[in-house]
Amino acid sequence: MVHPVFDNLPTTIFERMSGLARQHGAINLGQGFPDDQGPLPVREAAARALIEGSNQYPPMRGPPELRAAVAGHYGRTQDLQLDPDTEVTVTSGATEALAAAFLSLIAPGDEVVLFQPLYDAYLPLVRRAGGVPKLVRLSPPHWRFTRAMLEAAFSDKTRMVVLNSPLNPAAVVAPEEDLALLAEFCVRHDVIAVCDEVWEAVVFDGARHRPLIGFPGMRERTVKIGSAGKLFGMTGWKVGFLIAAPRLTRALAAAHQFLTFTTPPNLQAGVAWGLEHHRAWFDDMPASLQRSRDRLTAGLRAAGYVVLDSQGTYFLNVDLAASGIAVDDVTFCERCVAEFEVAAIPVSAFFAEDPVRNVVRLCFAKSDATLDEAVGRLGAARTALA
Ligand code: PMP
Ligand code: GLN
Repeated sequence: MVHPVFDNLPTTIFERMSGLARQHGAINLGQGFPDDQGPLPVREAAARALIEGSNQYPPMRGPPELRAAVAGHYGRTQDLQLDPDTEVTVTSGATEALAAAFLSLIAPGDEVVLFQPLYDAYLPLVRRAGGVPKLVRLSPPHWRFTRAMLEAAFSDKTRMVVLNSPLNPAAVVAPEEDLALLAEFCVRHDVIAVCDEVWEAVVFDGARHRPLIGFPGMRERTVKIGSAGKLFGMTGWKVGFLIAAPRLTRALAAAHQFLTFTTPPNLQAGVAWGLEHHRAWFDDMPASLQRSRDRLTAGLRAAGYVVLDSQGTYFLNVDLAASGIAVDDVTFCERCVAEFEVAAIPVSAFFAEDPVRNVVRLCFAKSDATLDEAVGRLGAARTALA
């Protein structure tokens, strides 16, 4: 009756922790979303489009002005030269982009290399597409892969590798040498790379996101996925991008046309306007989030937590064991939300096998007052659970 992949598949950890946060009236540092409503001029552009523009089906691959704006943005920020007509497809969020990539590029029995911790949408979608996952396990504090790990994971049957950088939940950015290593394996094994780069604009300390598609040999074999929801900090705006060479884009668009066909036109207009006219945002936003990261880090360290480096994303991680807390991440998160009224995400939820159980993810995309209040409560949680 029900497909085995979806039979008894639990509700995502993000929805579950947000539900518990509501139930307990807790501060929600779990699911990743800013408490700010996003840049007003971009929302105004979308509002204008809703009232004055067309509310009928836009073109299937996205309106030409948005595709041009996406190509322009990636040209300015990542040195990519993209043809907006043949290499850009607009989707309903990165989630739809991932589904379109897996459905159109995986044939039953193809092996797909994925790195744990992994974003929870990947495995069910890969399996539903008939892919056979080959998992590479990354470990804190660096969460890096090695040549030996790739040698063990890649085979003649490997068709695809899925890379998420900056990595949710680990909050690390893959260094250039690691990207070059992965590119070498992709070329050698004739593999397609699906690169989930939704956090590309949220990197700190002057770092610059380097897309794998820009590495030698990768231009024709990479699908780069972006999310306007993350670019502009409006996570409810499900507008995503698929960037790929024309041969791949034809397949991706063929899948997209039967998943959603298109995306609300006013949101697409808002994103196009924002990419063209609200460019200072891409400097201001990470600088402001970096301040929030530093504030939460300092508060948690003063409260006795061991905080892992956060190089990007809205998240930082704490190491429970190193912080003197004896319970595992799931127990910590359950007790923290119920007894201390702070919701967090257990990082073991991002593992399909052999989970890391001593790391908890916290979202710092919040006001100073919210972060300070959360630090007080988390300090009490540490004292109680140590
Ligand atoms: N991939 C990753 C790694 C994410 O963190 C998220 C959401 N935060 C998504 C994909 C989904 O993005 P969207 O909301 O645009 O579907
Ligand atoms: N990506 C967000 C996070 O990591 C959550 C997305 C969702 O709730 N589906 O928190």
